[in-house]
Amino acid sequence: MPIKILAREVISKIAAGEVVERPASVVKELVENALDAGATQINVESKGGGISLIRVTDNDSGIPADDVELAFHRYATSKINALTDLEQISTLGFRGEALPSIAAAAEVEVLTKADVDTASTYLYLKNGSVIKHEKRSRPQGTTVTVHHLFHNFPARLKFLKSATTENGHIANVLSQYALAFPEVKFNLVLDGRLTLKTPGNGSLRDVVAEVYGLEIAKQMLEIGEVDQVLSVTGLVSPPSLARSSRGYLSFFVNRRWVRSSLLARAAEDAYHGLLMPGKHPIVILNVSLPPQEIDVNVHPTKTEVKFRNSQTVYTAVQKSIGKVLAKAPPPKIKSDTTSFTPPPSLWTVKGAETASLPILRVMGQLASNYIMAEGPEGLYLIDQHAAHERVLFEKILAQRSQQKIEIQGLLEPVNIELSPKQEEVLKMKRELLGEFGFNLEPFGARSYLLRAVPAIMKEGNLAEAVRTLLDSLVAEEEPSKREENIAQSVACHSAVKAGQSLTAEEMRELIKQLEQTNQPRTCPHGRPTMIHLSSRQLEKEFGRTG
Ligand code: ADP
Ligand code: MG
Repeated sequence: MPIKILAREVISKIAAGEVVERPASVVKELVENALDAGATQINVESKGGGISLIRVTDNDSGIPADDVELAFHRYATSKINALTDLEQISTLGFRGEALPSIAAAAEVEVLTKADVDTASTYLYLKNGSVIKHEKRSRPQGTTVTVHHLFHNFPARLKFLKSATTENGHIANVLSQYALAFPEVKFNLVLDGRLTLKTPGNGSLRDVVAEVYGLEIAKQMLEIGEVDQVLSVTGLVSPPSLARSSRGYLSFFVNRRWVRSSLLARAAEDAYHGLLMPGKHPIVILNVSLPPQEIDVNVHPTKTEVKFRNSQTVYTAVQKSIGKVLAKAPPPKIKSDTTSFTPPPSLWTVKGAETASLPILRVMGQLASNYIMAEGPEGLYLIDQHAAHERVLFEKILAQRSQQKIEIQGLLEPVNIELSPKQEEVLKMKRELLGEFGFNLEPFGARSYLLRAVPAIMKEGNLAEAVRTLLDSLVAEEEPSKREENIAQSVACHSAVKAGQSLTAEEMRELIKQLEQTNQPRTCPHGRPTMIHLSSRQLEKEFGRTG
């Protein structure tokens, strides 16, 4: 094919596809516009995962009547003027791409009234072209309604996940911006249901209470490292509040929601040695610095930033969290698991092996954490939690495949508060969870009553266990893996904990059950349940063989 410049329609579609990746991107762009225009109240409504409808209403300064059509032209913006402005961006938008991109991918209605105008303007666009332009009335502010998103992007439509998944993404975008702008009132209605409502009173803790629940909000520690050049502010969890996913890390740079591996690393490094492996903190941090210190013009979605001096930013974040954690009460994990460190050359970790176990004789417990056992092939150190997890995991899956899950009704139902994201997952997986023995009943805004659990489940913090379970299901699309995730989560919650002393009888019983599992040498997460020191290695170490 000869080289030629693409038709305008093709160009605008390609560009639109970059800005509008999925329905949540539309919400993000429209909310950013409202925030840039100084809104103090932003209402978002979505139907059918944002495909049938997205509506964002704000009470901001509005678009002047003469500019409304212009706002839908590519690269039309009121936020920057000259090239030098690119180095000093203080607004969330600046590329003038969002409105034209959305109009290229959907049908759009705008109703806006600027403070300078007496009447308001209504515009209806189809395939990027204005079909209707009339005067109407409304109070000051802007409403943008997006219909039939991606109707002309069949490929994109095909790659979207279920409406519930897309709703989850939308809920997440709103939650993030609510966390970044506590002084703004946000309302999110998904398919007619009020999913998120923030008070807009300026308190970050109050927003956290809405997004993650009151229990978490109460425990979060405040970061307030304010400097003339670089400030780090926000809330972070004490080590005792760790989560099993990185989904609770929120970073903002000059209040722009960003994905930043640098900031994630800085935050997680501050918790080094304070969290169990596989656990992550809850972090909500805003880094403020002069606009010329960052470059946000990295990608059309503006979710990435480059720091001019990344080392300084890393250190500031890590130190400000570290300082607060140093003052926090120490985590109540266990006493002295570090007192025994097996020399790596001596011990073999039999992780990947699936071979069955020999008969083992329990000799005792070490550091309230490991069971020492003797077998025909030498000494075995068994991680009691990992081993019990394996036993329970296989038991649950076996009961499930025989449809014989034992269910335990709760005498006192447990009230569970869910984040918008968790609620979306629950709605999607409620039936499956029911088959595993969980009975959860809606009980007001994002509250649920847990009425029954799988009988295998230990007491303890059931609300927390259910939330962890829902988090583990967020990313999982593969049906068979989902079942494993549920079994894994239940097993992890119910297994004996590290730090718990066991009687000789309990240890013998655990080892006996472990011997009967299909994969005794790994826990359901794939980590080893045991390490093994063979008699031959022992002889070698003691110089008994040549
Ligand atoms: P950008 O945000 O990068 O400027 P957009 O395409 O998102 O580009 O918006 C184009 C322009 O339309 C903005 O610069 C702004 O002037 C105006 N605008 C868009 N949304 C709103 C709104 N909700 N309130 C006031 N003005 C708006
Ligand atoms: Mg914009």
